[in-house]
Amino acid sequence: MSYRRSAGAVPYPVRVFDDDTPAVANLDPALLGALRRAAADAAADGVEFVVNGGWRSPEYQAHLFAAAVLKYGSEEAAARWVATPGTSAHVSGNAVDIGPAEARAWLSEHGSAYGLCQIYRNEPWHYELRPEAVEHGCPPLYADPTHDPRMRRGRTA
Ligand SMILES: [Zn+2]
Repeated sequence: MSYRRSAGAVPYPVRVFDDDTPAVANLDPALLGALRRAAADAAADGVEFVVNGGWRSPEYQAHLFAAAVLKYGSEEAAARWVATPGTSAHVSGNAVDIGPAEARAWLSEHGSAYGLCQIYRNEPWHYELRPEAVEHGCPPLYADPTHDPRMRRGRTA
């Protein structure tokens, strides 16, 4: 599978400071700023963040969803793991998939101070910006994306 980097593919993990990768450069500026502040502080703790996914074009998201339907056997099962182009926070540049495990552990402990929150219990790598989390902490996790009201918009039947 060789989707283009210009469509948001991340064929190998990249640093959060990589402005040459569209998956990173096309993220919402507020999310990217928070992510870079967190990554700089994590680096001082000896933890390096990598980006495994970020902004994606609608076409690339559709390709990923179609692949997930093949893998999981139905649109309903696929929707637990991959959003449609109409609902994905990746397509709008408002979600980033972070690795490795040490970085995710650092973020789960410190991320809320930057407004960076895990959203889905089944996706410990997927982070979005929740500015109110700086003061109030991150909101409760959804079990998986099918429980997220945002994902119900645009679902096909
Ligand atoms: Zn994600």
